[in-house]
Amino acid sequence: MIIFKTSKKLTEPISLSHRKKNEWMKRLLTRAKHVGDGGEVPIAAVILDIKGRCIGYGVNKREKMNDPLGHAELIALRQASLIKDDWRFNDCTLIVNLEPCPMCAGALIQARMGQVIFGAEDPKRGAFGGTINLAEHKSAHHNMLISKGVLEEESRKLIVNWFKDKRIISKNI
Ligand SMILES: [Zn+2]
Repeated sequence: MIIFKTSKKLTEPISLSHRKKNEWMKRLLTRAKHVGDGGEVPIAAVILDIKGRCIGYGVNKREKMNDPLGHAELIALRQASLIKDDWRFNDCTLIVNLEPCPMCAGALIQARMGQVIFGAEDPKRGAFGGTINLAEHKSAHHNMLISKGVLEEESRKLIVNWFKDKRIISKNI
């Protein structure tokens, strides 16, 4: 008789407490605000491994790098894949202050991200429910845990005020 040993058990992303989620979001909002003051859309993202250690970090650099791919989530993904030495993220968690756009949501699905946590919903470009839900689209090939609304009001205000300020500045030029 052959007994198959399943020593390689399936790994799950870390389950973060409400307090921990808020702590991470607070840090991200501080970083995002700093980036916003420098002219980028204020978005920052981190990726945590299965033990909750930060293995990737990114902020929006689209303007600075003239790179349409310069979104916080993608920059964090690139860094984390180097550290992890793997492109699969089933046991990892991405936290970001704004709901990911279709490009980033697609990349997170391709990377098999285990869990995504975000602050504000994006009713204009959000791809995890704001405009479309790619995680539930038939092209999505794995289950992703998604939780939203972490420090929602602060997250929403940061984005809304940034765009408001930008409109005032461009009107005065
Ligand atoms: Zn994006």
